[in-house]
Amino acid sequence: MTKDMHCKILMVATEAVPFAKEGGVADVIGSLPKELAALGHDVRIFLPRYGIIDPNRWALRHTGVVRTLSVGGFDQTISILQTTLPDAPVIVYLLDNEEFFGRYQRIYLGLDQLDEQRRFLLFCRGLLEALPQLNFAPDIIHLNDWPTAPCTAYLRTTHRHLLAHGAARIVYTIHNLQYQGRWDPSILYEAGLDPASVFTAVGLEFWGDVNWMKAGIMYADVVTTVSRRYAEEIQTLDYGWGLDEALFQRHPRIFGIPNGLDWDTWNPATDNNLVARYSAAEALPAKVRNRTGLRQEFGLPDDPALPVVGIVSRLVDQKGFDLIAEIAAEMRALPLQFVVLGSGHPRYEQLFRDLAASTGNIRVQIGFDVALSHRIYAGADFFLMPSAFEPGGLGQLIALRYGTLPIVHATGGLADTVTDIDSNLSTHMRPLPCSLRCTAPCSFMPSAIAGPLS
Ligand code: ADP
Repeated sequence: MTKDMHCKILMVATEAVPFAKEGGVADVIGSLPKELAALGHDVRIFLPRYGIIDPNRWALRHTGVVRTLSVGGFDQTISILQTTLPDAPVIVYLLDNEEFFGRYQRIYLGLDQLDEQRRFLLFCRGLLEALPQLNFAPDIIHLNDWPTAPCTAYLRTTHRHLLAHGAARIVYTIHNLQYQGRWDPSILYEAGLDPASVFTAVGLEFWGDVNWMKAGIMYADVVTTVSRRYAEEIQTLDYGWGLDEALFQRHPRIFGIPNGLDWDTWNPATDNNLVARYSAAEALPAKVRNRTGLRQEFGLPDDPALPVVGIVSRLVDQKGFDLIAEIAAEMRALPLQFVVLGSGHPRYEQLFRDLAASTGNIRVQIGFDVALSHRIYAGADFFLMPSAFEPGGLGQLIALRYGTLPIVHATGGLADTVTDIDSNLSTHMRPLPCSLRCTAPCSFMPSAIAGPLS
């Protein structure tokens, strides 16, 4: 693509700010299209319409496209609704079906649910069937994570015609390799895919199961990750979640593109959620006022001698909270205050509830609260993100934007974006001990570690 070439890009995802958000993928899908549209591309987003997406609030209107498909042995009718991003000329299509999406207030049901498989199969097939009627023939179909990966299997088989004889390209972005959408092969019949075509070692077969993440990896023209380091890591045994071999087969087609941040949404100078707004010049006094407000909100004493450490996170194993569990007793005695906002695994929710109940310096809010998250990013002195692995990470980027020092584990996107305070030990300059079996120079690896390995 040359600089002046304008493309038609369809971004398919399960989350996008401001409509539905559970994690960083929503930030990316809500902001990247704006930037691409500003460069002159015609970008459109495709999402499911969950119950939390209120048709009136977002002025959803009907496109007139209605289709009936069979999923799970029953006919399902889908309609395509339409709106735009609130602050950009980006069309957003929403696939509407009451049984699989509309009646749920949450985005995900859980990987172990057959209905989870069925709803995202309906989403993928529905959008591909609807596409020709929407008069939008994308040059690039950008898919994100396993729930959208069935599209790749359809696009290489039953819906091949949508690729305009190979002129259109599939980009598949891995936001988190851990969630793969694995199911037994019977799901292929429900999906309407021919096992002889796709249930193969070079297709979506994985230890006798269907693995949609693997479909995305094997069938996309290009696979991207949300940081450079993660692109390297996932091709190793330690971070590959069993797919390192498959990823390595696609090695020349894997690119790490670091996540960016929407600087308008996350801007302390204009942020209405804060006690005191600030630019870099007046950050110090304003941050003190925000910190006082944050302490009041969490019922902590306003002691200037104690720095505040903020956490805003899904409370899951990935985020490294087992490390906090290990030092729970010591945390009570640390000369620090902790404010925690998150929800997720009951084990970690209980850990923080117990800590909050038994200490004077740790407070927690279990739940999802975007406005409060802004106040934590602004009011905390430090932001803690000890992730065991981190594909990209937006929390640390937001913290940096708000002048709050991130304390992170040097992995994935955290290693790419947080520079060690001792510049001689800059983590992002230190190459990962590489276990890749490269024979050619890598596009994403520092030249110091590219090349043949012994
Ligand atoms: P992940 O996508 O793995 O959850 P990221 O760091 O990439 O992690 O993105 C997390 C995003 O979700 C950030 O925008 C963060 O502020 C937001 N977030 C996480 N938990 C909460 C919560 N409980 N309330 C509000 N926002 C949250």
